[in-house]
Amino acid sequence: MYSLRAMDKILVSACLLGRPVRYDGRAKTLHHGLLKSWQEEGRVVPLCPEVAAGFATPRAPAEIEAGRSGPDILTGNARVLEDGGDDVTAGFRRGAEIALQTARNNGCRFALLTDGSPSCGSTFIYSGAFDGTARTGQGVVAALLSNDGIAVFAEDQIDALAAALATATEGR
Ligand code: SF4
Repeated sequence: MYSLRAMDKILVSACLLGRPVRYDGRAKTLHHGLLKSWQEEGRVVPLCPEVAAGFATPRAPAEIEAGRSGPDILTGNARVLEDGGDDVTAGFRRGAEIALQTARNNGCRFALLTDGSPSCGSTFIYSGAFDGTARTGQGVVAALLSNDGIAVFAEDQIDALAAALATATEGR
């Protein structure tokens, strides 16, 4: 048996935890026994990077411009645009930096993030044309956390996250 101190913490998108912080003012609650257990064990570190960066809720939908992805934002080669055309790249980068700092401050080596988001998406994001078309790619937060060696999982990969946590625990 390991102590709580030795348990791996997990940075979790706040909207998965039922917090109504999405651009449309809603949550995207993940009802899963594993997530509930991790909350009860004190492993979960909740964060909405966009709200932490100062964006209002609700807010205009935003997407990474067509053909680009989170890593391009980090290198300054792409923008995040609202559906009205406003450039919100700086705020999204700020949210990612807050997420990384929060993960470091709490010793999180794992993250469970909402897929599809221009911040939290890890396997897919949207086209950049606000037409509802998904494409392979990472959001800005997922890209920055991954660069720092934090293992990022989407909500439908929660079983893989549990396996990675078990492996990390066994390795101690
Ligand atoms: S930024 Fe992440 S945590 Fe916040 S609403 Fe979007 S997907 Fe959820």
